[in-house]
Amino acid sequence: MNNKEMICIVCPMGCRMTVSVNGEVCSVDGNKCDRGQKYATDETTNPLRTVTSTVRIANAEIRRLPVKTVQAFPKGKMFELMSVLKQVEVKTPVKMGDVILQNALGTNIDVVASRTVK
Ligand code: SF4
Repeated sequence: MNNKEMICIVCPMGCRMTVSVNGEVCSVDGNKCDRGQKYATDETTNPLRTVTSTVRIANAEIRRLPVKTVQAFPKGKMFELMSVLKQVEVKTPVKMGDVILQNALGTNIDVVASRTVK
């Protein structure tokens, strides 16, 4: 049995939690509500993060186009996603929300432009 300490970031209370793991999450202690239990379980079994980055853009005043995943992305695949985004180059015009990379790494999560560039 492993114990992991973590702080819940779902609300400003910031409860300190202890998660007991033995192949799977066995217990969560220290959370003041059920949202903390869910956060601790998700964070332990399948942590997700919104990924923000940039890609090359041709024929524009700016050199890099800011992009982000449309929803939280598996944390374990973030570095692989960054490598893929290094190979991407887009051309103007680009509108905020345009899909830059569809179904990134087979996750069904798109990467979209975070700003408009004419
Ligand atoms: S466990 Fe509940 S009360 Fe505590 S920080 Fe998380 S959401 Fe807030």
